[in-house]
Amino acid sequence: MNSPISYLKTIVVFLFISCSTITIAQNINFEFAKHSLKPGSKTEILLPVETETDSTVIPVTIFNGTKKGPVLGIVAGVHGTEFVPILAAQQLARDIDPKNLSGTIILVHIANVEGFLNRSFRVNPIDQKNLNRVFPGSKNGSMTERIAWTISNTIIPNCDYYIDVHAGDYNNDLRAYAGYYNYFDKPVVSKLAKDIAVAMGFPFVVQFGNEPSLKNKAVYTSREAFIQNIPAIDIECGRKGIVEEKFVIRIKQALWNVMGYLDMVDQTPPKNEEPVMIGQRTTISSPETGFFYSDFTSGDYVKKGMKLGYITDLFGNHVTDIKCPVDGMILYKTFNPPIKKGDGLFNIGHIN
Ligand SMILES: [Zn+2]
Repeated sequence: MNSPISYLKTIVVFLFISCSTITIAQNINFEFAKHSLKPGSKTEILLPVETETDSTVIPVTIFNGTKKGPVLGIVAGVHGTEFVPILAAQQLARDIDPKNLSGTIILVHIANVEGFLNRSFRVNPIDQKNLNRVFPGSKNGSMTERIAWTISNTIIPNCDYYIDVHAGDYNNDLRAYAGYYNYFDKPVVSKLAKDIAVAMGFPFVVQFGNEPSLKNKAVYTSREAFIQNIPAIDIECGRKGIVEEKFVIRIKQALWNVMGYLDMVDQTPPKNEEPVMIGQRTTISSPETGFFYSDFTSGDYVKKGMKLGYITDLFGNHVTDIKCPVDGMILYKTFNPPIKKGDGLFNIGHIN
């Protein structure tokens, strides 16, 4: 039989464990770019990026949840005319409630504001550079290089997971997919990213890299995150540079699925069908300059040797046919006529 002292000990131990659990569950202030953000808060911040001659901002909303949890970075608008991710980010910012959030979300609304405001296809009009080709960027470089540097040093190191969201731009007919960085010498980071990509619920998941190790510079924003040992995932959703609400909704759903998967919100992620994993892709580049014609669309399955389209000269005279070099599925393709020698015509995912 237990003595009263033993009962007392049990109660003390129980109280200690209960208090510890409460302490662990409660979030603390989130320190970000000289701001100290309280638990349960939503804060809009314009991160300044200045060169000797120009200046811009990066609009970021931080949701610091009331309870502890991971830090999830979500970036839209690396390409300023990919509007679907930018609108998804804006709508998501209205819907996330930090009072019902575990962990922290760093949401970049538009990484390339100048590209967005000036409707500049792929590049920042100030320096004509493609933000997703200059990572990790440079502290003293051109505006685009400084934006990349700010993201590489202010946003990425704060994240436990990093998601970069894109869409098919106005030349680009695209089949929606998730992608993640997968290098064999970083199996843990790669596996964490794979699980997030799968949790998004897209039918196709592309593995970037799929090699023993990453030897090159980051170049891409999510590859910079991977280099910093942060699981890095991309979304590609939306096509032809147009705003289709169903793709805005699809991106938001993918991000809610991730928040549910990471236990950041009280939402059970749906049971997704196992996605098709695409470990290898082939890009078909144009051999000539002129007009490009093709009746195929993204998502079409194609076979090696098929005629996928043709090129004409500037008068419309047939110059060459485009043949398919592999079996697979068209992930994305150029869908309107202008084409320069070397431009990408098709990106084909190998389907086994
Ligand atoms: Zn893009």
